[in-house]
Amino acid sequence: VTTPRTHAIVIGASIAGLVTARVLSEHVDEVTILERDRLPQEPATRRGVPQGRHAHVLLAKGRQLLDGWFPGIGDDLIDRGAVPIDAARMVWHQAGAHRTPADLGTISLCMTRPLLEDAVRGQLLQQRANVAIADGVSVERPLVEDERVVGVLVDGVERRADLVVDCSGRNTRLLAQLEDEGFPYPEVSAIGIEMAYGTRMVPRHDHHLDGDLVVSYGDPAGAHRLGTMLPVEGDQWMITCAAFHGDRPPTDPTEFEAITATLPSREIADVLADTVVPSPVLTHRMPTSQRRHVERLARMPAGFVVLGDAICSFNAVYGQGMSSAALQAEALGRSVQRHGVASPSLPRAFYRRSAKVVDVPWKLAATSDFADPRTTGPKPMGTDLTNRYLEKVLLACHTSPRVARQTVQVQNLMARPESLMTPTMIARVLLAARRSPARRASTETAAPAPVDRSGVLSRDEPVAA
Ligand SMILES: Cc1cc2nc3c(=O)[nH]c(=O)nc-3n(C[C@H](O)[C@H](O)[C@H](O)COP(=O)(O)OP(=O)(O)OC[C@H]3O[C@@H](n4cnc5c(N)ncnc54)[C@H](O)[C@@H]3O)c2cc1C
Repeated sequence: VTTPRTHAIVIGASIAGLVTARVLSEHVDEVTILERDRLPQEPATRRGVPQGRHAHVLLAKGRQLLDGWFPGIGDDLIDRGAVPIDAARMVWHQAGAHRTPADLGTISLCMTRPLLEDAVRGQLLQQRANVAIADGVSVERPLVEDERVVGVLVDGVERRADLVVDCSGRNTRLLAQLEDEGFPYPEVSAIGIEMAYGTRMVPRHDHHLDGDLVVSYGDPAGAHRLGTMLPVEGDQWMITCAAFHGDRPPTDPTEFEAITATLPSREIADVLADTVVPSPVLTHRMPTSQRRHVERLARMPAGFVVLGDAICSFNAVYGQGMSSAALQAEALGRSVQRHGVASPSLPRAFYRRSAKVVDVPWKLAATSDFADPRTTGPKPMGTDLTNRYLEKVLLACHTSPRVARQTVQVQNLMARPESLMTPTMIARVLLAARRSPARRASTETAAPAPVDRSGVLSRDEPVAA
């Protein structure tokens, strides 16, 4: 007696699709990724992932998951030019001063998004013999039979599978097509940010900052602009400026340089001033952070789930999308292991788990987004109070290595946000914020009153220079 072979189809060979295929390859006999683009042989931007031309930071959580699934990927990336960065050497200017050096406990890697995707794809195909990618293949729609997605239609031809995972990104059409088949469309939370990115690539010289990553944030309540400068392969800096609510980085290279001079710290402007050839400014716009609440669906077909940006696409400045996709893929693996790939209870079980892993980055991002008073949309409860406390946290990051370290851990999804709100941490934050060189004139206590259960308000380490 032969058991029928199990087959999963993953739509989209971007980061969500690749990590999903990796996870599913442990649970099904065969995984096929269907990708609309023709995939390049070398790292290169492609039509289906236009955001690939802009700064992409891989948070520590995402790095940890990728390292686990693809042993050796870090070395592979470094061999190909990715730049290792010690978080303690990051130049990070926010809330009016530079953050004190904070060790993250791991080394981060800086590279372009096409290099990362190329490395993940290469490792996947090398290490998982039961995964195949068919590129230049556009999925037209899901095939539905008896309340179940049984495959997809491609060029009029049916491709059948036990499970279809839609990783086709923020603009997926499949949920609308399922609505046409009688299934409800998920509720959508959209937070209006009107984000505009402008990116320039410029040569990186030895006399510039030595391999450091730079982040420079303008005050959300004032000139809310952000500049990042990432050292990437090919001895280049990738300089990205973000602006919000109608403010846009200029497309003229000289004006772009001028706008970097309006950032609260000089590092990026200094490098651009040292650049002779005016490289073009590439742009991208994102009107909203968007979350589809698939976990609230009353009815859903068996044999189908969405994952990645199709579920949640965040304000890009927090660098959460790829790590969130990896966390969701991990959650899918757990759900498949528990319920089986073809089980009708799989989609609901997965959506329940994925909602939990998406919740943290979604709330972190939404909270920070609402620090800008022009942000619109559903404001999570308690956001204003949290933001008043976060303001203190950011000030404390100027002087307290412990607060800075914990903040970096939270931002990298390695620690829960609540870890910044323990009584000891609140006491530490309030003390350190008072020492910030950028301390606001207002002395009102914005945080909940610290309750120190040990009875000792421990002092921070000495102030770093
Ligand atoms: C400007 C910008 C900057 C960002 N910066 C960061 C960052 O710093 N760090 C971070 O972690 N994240 C960042 N992100 C988010 C990150 O790009 C995504 O989270 C990540 O790519 C995962 O998305 P995804 O795989 O779900 O979808 P996508 O990346 O959108 O990929 C969808 C894939 O599906 C394919 N496809 C679409 N339709 C079909 C179809 N019908 N048939 C077959 N294939 C199809 C597309 O060609 C594409 O390959 C940023 C996003 C933007 C917009």
